[in-house]
Amino acid sequence: MAADHPTPIFRSEDDLARLPASDRIRYRLVRAGCRHHANDNIAAHIEDGELDELQAEVEARMREVLRSLVIDTEGDHNTNDTARRVAKMFLREVFHGRYVAIPPVTEFPNVERLNELMIVGPVKVRSACSHHLCPILGRVWIGVLPNEFSNLIGLSKYARIVEWIMSRPQIQEEAVTMLANELQDRVKPDGLAIVMEADHFCMHWRGVKDDESMMTNSVMRGAFLKDANLRREFLSLLSKKNA
Ligand SMILES: [Zn+2]
Repeated sequence: MAADHPTPIFRSEDDLARLPASDRIRYRLVRAGCRHHANDNIAAHIEDGELDELQAEVEARMREVLRSLVIDTEGDHNTNDTARRVAKMFLREVFHGRYVAIPPVTEFPNVERLNELMIVGPVKVRSACSHHLCPILGRVWIGVLPNEFSNLIGLSKYARIVEWIMSRPQIQEEAVTMLANELQDRVKPDGLAIVMEADHFCMHWRGVKDDESMMTNSVMRGAFLKDANLRREFLSLLSKKNA
């Protein structure tokens, strides 16, 4: 544990510039007291050009992993370029949500004073588990009960926020809570409900090799907690949409 955290001694910008990008970014995170678990976004601590440096660093390490797996990447044309592809996939695609700022989301005041249950979904979920880095594929439904002071956001923005949170190594229970917190802060509804249903490939590919395992998680807040009828309405609309 301790070895992973650099000692918080003062380093000049010149000292920092000599470090590998991952150490530089880690130094800033530790100095700022910022958690940097697999599903945390660290974009605020990454400077221009450093994502390219990280990608090169991951590529070099990935080459070592393949070497330790005793794969002849020089002789084998199939794995010749794998380290580069995997590094690019991690940083620019599947774990992108750790390294970039939240996509711009415009919030509108609720001028029409909408106060009816609104359901968004199913929104496609593409993620990976933090334990094995195996894919998680699924869907999420979001129920919002706005009040006159709520902010409204465009439907497509829900999908972009979902993508931003899910494209990190995740734990399903934590992912739905993160999504709920983000939407709660932005939309400020009277009630918020989220249901996520996903297929965890670490259950198929390894371990128990159970092909029937879908995991479902939900978060209910505000009016959805207090009002059983509202909760029922949401769940029944969701099963109709699902049919
Ligand atoms: Zn797993």
